[in-house]
Amino acid sequence: MNITVFLGAPGSGKGTQAKRLAESQNFIHFSTGDMLRSAMKAETDVGKKAKGFVDKGDLVPDNVMIELIEAALTGIPNNTKIILDGFPRTVPQAEALDQKISTAVNRALYFLVPEKDLITRLTGRRVCEKCGEPYHVESLPPKKEGVCDKCGGNVIHRKDDSAEVVGHRLQVFHKLTSPLLSYYKTKNRLKELDGNRPIDTLQKELVQILN
Ligand code: AMP
Repeated sequence: MNITVFLGAPGSGKGTQAKRLAESQNFIHFSTGDMLRSAMKAETDVGKKAKGFVDKGDLVPDNVMIELIEAALTGIPNNTKIILDGFPRTVPQAEALDQKISTAVNRALYFLVPEKDLITRLTGRRVCEKCGEPYHVESLPPKKEGVCDKCGGNVIHRKDDSAEVVGHRLQVFHKLTSPLLSYYKTKNRLKELDGNRPIDTLQKELVQILN
């Protein structure tokens, strides 16, 4: 498998970029955040295990996440191009991907965005409950308030994008996820990108890098 990992703090634009690449290029996009939200909505075992962690902005335990992604990647043809968005989020998850799941990561792209911009992006972020299309109250509102332009689903404010939870999620990122930067750097697989640019500009650069 050809696996690219998108790394970045919450709100750094990984999901938006990955979604567009999946629509316009030949990539399969796995967002563990979306997978967990669907599981929570459907009240599956994974959803029930995850809910308390997700709502508080904490990470879901590694064993749950590793099983989830392992199941998702099983049976996928070898020549598939995959973007992992939101996984791995800890060093043990990255090790599992490289060793246990025997699906070594080809490259990791890090979306760098200043902290103050992350907070504005996250607290103003809205998302379609049905298809996951991202919006922003100021910079990218849906044409009709509360309704997704793409699928007509409800555009909502995620509970974990509230001002109280956002600060905690950023702390969790610095403590548990940012060590992944050294993990992939030591393996010469890390590329840093300026994530503070217009969506289309960054998308063009990604298309070049990934093809
Ligand atoms: P996201 O949509 O990527 O911001 O993820 C939303 C939430 O899902 C995170 O704040 C975590 O609670 C949980 N989550 C998503 N991916 C992971 C992961 N790889 N490891 C642990 N928790 C995760």
